[in-house]
Amino acid sequence: MPDPANTVLRVALPVPLARLFDYLPPPAMPENGHWIGRRVRVPFGKGELIGLVAAVGPPENPALTLKTVAESLDDAPLFSGELLDSLRWAARYYHAPLGETFATALPALLRAGQPLPETRAFAWRLTAEGSAAIARLRKNTATRRLAEKLQAHAVAEDRLDLEFLDWKAPARALAKRGLIERTAIVDPEVFAAETFSANPFPLNAEQAAVVEIVRAAIGRFQPLLLEGVTGSGKTEVYLQAIRECLARGRQALILVPEIGLTPQTLQRFRARLGVPVHALHSGLADGERSRAWTAMHRGEGRVLVGTRSAVFTPLPEAGLIIVDEEHDSSYKQQDGIRYHARDLAVVRAKALAVPVLLGSATPSLESLHNALAGRYAHLRLSQRAGVAKPPRVRVLDVRKRPLTHGLSKDVFDAIAACLQRDEQILVFKNRRGYAPVLLCHDCGWSAQCPRCDTPMTVHGGGRTLLCHHCGSRRSRPLSCPDCASLALQPQGFGTERLEEALAERFPDVPLIRVDSQSTRVKDGLEKKLAELGDTAGILVGTQMLTKGHDLPRLTLVCVVGIDEGLFSADFRAGEKLSQLLIQVAGRAGRAKLPGEVLLQTHHPEHPLLNTLLAGGYPAAAALELAQREAAQFPPYASMALLRAEAGNENDMKTFLREAREQFVANEAVVISAPMAAPMPRRAGKARGQLLLSSAQRGALQSALSDWLPRVGELKLARKVRWSLDVDPMDLY
Ligand code: ADP
Ligand code: ZN
Ligand code: ZN
Repeated sequence: MPDPANTVLRVALPVPLARLFDYLPPPAMPENGHWIGRRVRVPFGKGELIGLVAAVGPPENPALTLKTVAESLDDAPLFSGELLDSLRWAARYYHAPLGETFATALPALLRAGQPLPETRAFAWRLTAEGSAAIARLRKNTATRRLAEKLQAHAVAEDRLDLEFLDWKAPARALAKRGLIERTAIVDPEVFAAETFSANPFPLNAEQAAVVEIVRAAIGRFQPLLLEGVTGSGKTEVYLQAIRECLARGRQALILVPEIGLTPQTLQRFRARLGVPVHALHSGLADGERSRAWTAMHRGEGRVLVGTRSAVFTPLPEAGLIIVDEEHDSSYKQQDGIRYHARDLAVVRAKALAVPVLLGSATPSLESLHNALAGRYAHLRLSQRAGVAKPPRVRVLDVRKRPLTHGLSKDVFDAIAACLQRDEQILVFKNRRGYAPVLLCHDCGWSAQCPRCDTPMTVHGGGRTLLCHHCGSRRSRPLSCPDCASLALQPQGFGTERLEEALAERFPDVPLIRVDSQSTRVKDGLEKKLAELGDTAGILVGTQMLTKGHDLPRLTLVCVVGIDEGLFSADFRAGEKLSQLLIQVAGRAGRAKLPGEVLLQTHHPEHPLLNTLLAGGYPAAAALELAQREAAQFPPYASMALLRAEAGNENDMKTFLREAREQFVANEAVVISAPMAAPMPRRAGKARGQLLLSSAQRGALQSALSDWLPRVGELKLARKVRWSLDVDPMDLY
């Protein structure tokens, strides 16, 4: 027995300090050890913080007078076992404070100290009064329809979500009159039978083979890379694998990219799995998020579909983890703790001894490299499922060709022909706004963001200037500030300007712009697409359109203006561009109608484009991998980037120099000289960085563990904003 007088709670707090904080336990103390993983409210500075007990033991410094925990918030630990271990692992690997890692892993309400929410599923049923009154309700009203729906038996809220658009208002109205009532679902099986809908079609041979391999792997750790061309039926494979996992009484976690978790995606899972499917994404209210998390924590939730942060969901009865579109860059958190959800999914799968299925039409080079090295099993779906055929790709060489609003005659003709056939078109341009630059035709002046030294994008039909880096906004000057000329011209094309040009050319055709701006409204894009339905029309957009949006009549994809991507300095540019092109092209002809892709470029001879066209993504990936190996870039080396920014450029530079000096020279790890960031100024701050790289992950990790505490002790470390990015996605 440890001496209680000598036992303190070592608490991880959400502060940027890599240490624990000691507190005396409150008077009522549960059995020792069981403290770990519980939330506590503790006095800190002038206020209070919510933290998590990370250890129990003797105080770090016996001479200190310790404060007492104000309140213990949980009856049982929130983190334990595998998840606690995985979070500790993440904190070590990303060199992040444990307290911040715990905070990142918790939904906002739980982080703020709220109690675990109610998680039972609910259903609605008719009361006796309701049964008697139903015939008197006015016909053809939402209330009448809802009452009729509940006539035979109670219906789960999940199910109502699927079948009634707005059932909540009529439900409230009926409940107020005592005609229907809400009831907790005691036996989910009853409802499972109803929601369950069998496979709409048999799996093809390739799909069946993959499902069989996943099935055989349930019960042990096995990373599986599923490389399946767009529309090859990967989601069908997931569904079958999840059903297998459920049948064995285990939970499944499915990660999807930020923009892929559309209402249709959820609907597809809900309709096919026959159990409540929980969702976790940024569009949900805080309460819903903490409910989904808690349901999985209690084991009541069996399936969770979520975006990046869902990788931290507790899985006490884990059976399978799936990462869809595993190459997607939204899996990497770009601030705070810069974790990669795909990588953490693999780490957790290993600790949980479950298979992890990474699916993509365009796998990341990291995962391909792991497959080549034999660490991951490499599974393939080489054909589109059902009747859909791969789209035909045509390259339009527009060198010396006249362009109207950035589009060639061939593109306009193809769009017109497609509209004639009553089909839909996607014009893809990876640039939002009206035009990327505002230029003075007389003196060459261009509008720059004064805080970032980069061109400002023209927006609002040419009326405003917006910096895409810091969000600065101002109205467009009427005349050139340098020479007073009136010849200020927007240069280049963004989605807004293309929309204008297409509307002018095809005035009577429905036109939908799809970019982060036009889709900011909740479900805005969903509503617009539903409005369009099956009628002929044009979509103009950035990469917001994903496979979560089902558009069977979309047959033509015009890719315009990808040329910037061909000459980017970013070491991942080639990989990203290949993925983007294949994914966008994959939107065409996903159903019965054949698809076509037009690629308008000034660089038809570019080796990457040629490889991509001749050999598809596998060939392009092989080319990129060879280049990465030659240059010793990831996945052939591990990298970490220390970024620093400060209002005062000298502070930033001095900090980097001193940090560099703290590094103990090491044969296995290369550290760069301090250098300016590729964007040397952003939002008025000077930015610089140090790049560390090593052929051995372990060597880099131990060098970082050794070095970072000393960096943290530098005087300037308090003045300069700095952060470490392990496995950076880009060097910006
Ligand atoms: P992916 O996830 O690979 O892009 P999906 O699973 O969304 O592909 O499938 C693409 C389309 O093909 C969907 O409409 C799906 O219903 C259909 N599909 C999938 N598998 C089959 C199959 N075995 N037979 C017929 N159609 C299928
Ligand atoms: Zn000028
Ligand atoms: Zn700016």
